[in-house]
Amino acid sequence: MPVNFFDDYTMTIDGRAGVSAATIEAINPATEEVIAQVPDASRAQLDEAVDAARRAFPAWSARPVAERQAFVSKIGDAIEAHAEDFMRLLTREQGKARAGAEWEIGGSVIWCREIAKQELPLHVVEESDDRTVETRRVPLGVVGGITPWNFPVLLAIWKIAPALVAGNTMVLKPSPYTPLCTLKLGEILRDILPAGVLNIVSGGNDLGAWMTGHPGIAKVSFTGSTATGRKIMESSASNLKRITLELGGNDPAIVLPDVDPAKVAQELFWAAFQNSAQFCVAAKRLYVHADVYDELRDALVDYAKTVKVGDGAEQGTDLGPIQNRMQFEKVKDLLVDAKASGLKALIGGEVEDGTGFFVPVTIYDNPPEDSRVVREEAFGPILPLLKFDDLEDVVARANDTEYGLAASVWSNDSQKAKEIASRIEAGTVWINEIHSFSPHVAFGGHKQSGVGIENSLEGLAEYTNSQTIVTRRVPASSGA
Ligand code: NAD
Repeated sequence: MPVNFFDDYTMTIDGRAGVSAATIEAINPATEEVIAQVPDASRAQLDEAVDAARRAFPAWSARPVAERQAFVSKIGDAIEAHAEDFMRLLTREQGKARAGAEWEIGGSVIWCREIAKQELPLHVVEESDDRTVETRRVPLGVVGGITPWNFPVLLAIWKIAPALVAGNTMVLKPSPYTPLCTLKLGEILRDILPAGVLNIVSGGNDLGAWMTGHPGIAKVSFTGSTATGRKIMESSASNLKRITLELGGNDPAIVLPDVDPAKVAQELFWAAFQNSAQFCVAAKRLYVHADVYDELRDALVDYAKTVKVGDGAEQGTDLGPIQNRMQFEKVKDLLVDAKASGLKALIGGEVEDGTGFFVPVTIYDNPPEDSRVVREEAFGPILPLLKFDDLEDVVARANDTEYGLAASVWSNDSQKAKEIASRIEAGTVWINEIHSFSPHVAFGGHKQSGVGIENSLEGLAEYTNSQTIVTRRVPASSGA
């Protein structure tokens, strides 16, 4: 059935449209206009979705893995077939510019197709005259997926694809700030997936909390803030749910003195500001060796002046607005604090009055290590440049955070860069590049940036329990 991407947003429960009397508003962050009303699911509707997923589980999990892989690959085909609509809607609801929307939707297609190639091997531990010992992976049941507002489609696919390939069924809840693309994904998949296999429900934070406490849900896979991650860990204890938590970060990027500032400035700019820095793995603290600090600082600021912040739907826009008012106020508060603390903004630093949640690209010149713009995850286009001249000192400063999501090291001396990388407390450390993700490469946070892994066979395994079957060979003499 044709789906109108720009109207009539419904939940998908047991393969059918779900509406509710209560609704929440979706707002275009560039214009502040209300662009849609979406259902605000009741607890009874969540129960219905969980029941549907539980009923669908036996048949879905009993299918050969090749069939489930084929279904997940078809999800990729369906996204590709609607790519233009998804990109336009993503820009309207999230704010991101066209290039960012292309990256996210294109990536979602690739993820479906690549995760659809993955299968967890049977591990034969022992095969002797006496017995065989085999460990296999079995699905968990119903997985609850909870996603944030910065990459609403891609991060949903990071959960849907492995959960379904592994044999689980699902109830997924998008962020109340960006529900539209996810609801449309549910609608287009009604014709593709068996009823109940993937249920999409929309609502506020309460709905998320009901999910994490729900006895019918076996696992929660969550991407969002560290503060919410803590709450989820607590409430998941009720039925000892499995959890995967992909949380916040305050990623350091370390630039060594042998680097040519002119060559890396542009890449470092995008390392920090991609998606208006609403990126868990954005370079959020840029440590630059004193020998190249001034040159790199000037090159970054020169490049920043060429970047256009505006409505993502307008041609020529490089960076869109902050996605929602709550985050906009948080980012503005950081700017006010920085100004009151006397920090020097090399560019930006002030938000102009007007329509839309726009924040200019802001770069601070060597603020104190204990300033809020260094200590906190801004999740907005604010970058502190920090000077160092001692490697021991910079490693200590880079690690002096509760977070441990990712980091990057920039140097022509790859051996030295690797030595530094190995001392950084983070789940991913890139050297001379950044933000290269793959469905086949493990991604997850250290410290308070998360629990567990997404992507790779390790990520797939998180959607399963391990089951060992020990078979004693019955001696022929004991037969009938
Ligand atoms: P958030 O924690 O506010 O919300 C994320 C989701 O959790 C939303 O769907 C929300 O409705 C839901 N939620 C809120 N309270 C809940 C509760 N008590 N129980 C269950 N669910 C609840 O995060 P956000 O502001 O949407 O996203 C930004 C954060 O996400 C940043 O900290 C960013 O670093 C992080 N993030 C991490 C990754 C990663 O892979 N590590 C990726 C993207 C974003």
